[in-house]
Amino acid sequence: MRQWQAVAVLALSACGSVQPGFTVRDVTVTVRTDAAFTRSQDFPARVESTVEAALAYWGGSWADLAGSAIVFEGAAHVACPGNGPSIGCYDGDIRVTTQDAGRTVSCVEATVLVHEVGHAVIGDAAHDDPRWMDFVALQGALDGRTGYDASGPTSCDPVANVWRHPPRG
Ligand SMILES: [Zn+2]
Repeated sequence: MRQWQAVAVLALSACGSVQPGFTVRDVTVTVRTDAAFTRSQDFPARVESTVEAALAYWGGSWADLAGSAIVFEGAAHVACPGNGPSIGCYDGDIRVTTQDAGRTVSCVEATVLVHEVGHAVIGDAAHDDPRWMDFVALQGALDGRTGYDASGPTSCDPVANVWRHPPRG
């Protein structure tokens, strides 16, 4: 019994410890991942500027997110009501994984945060809007930033294909 308990504790800690949260505008940010970029001094400012760029892209404002939470999860998938395991979710709050295809990403810009902000602004759960496939301008706005891994600064690749979602065919 004790061994099983120990295994359970290890499994939990592997998903990332919960860090003290912070607030960006009227949005509560919670960190449940060990991803290095979430430990960086610039993380709150990077969340704010990424959300700012996303809001501009989707034609929204901070009022669309007021009172919401953004949660960064270390697990490969987040729970999403009605959608099963997902890499990101918007259900009034935003949850995004800090992994991409099994690897921890190096910066907030490489998560699907921009995509989920889109749902907060325009809804469109079926992804009918053509903007889901047109992130080139936004990607340019987020290029050239610093990423972080366990050994220090690295590149940050705001991968467009992580954000893209094929329209319903
Ligand atoms: Zn979506």
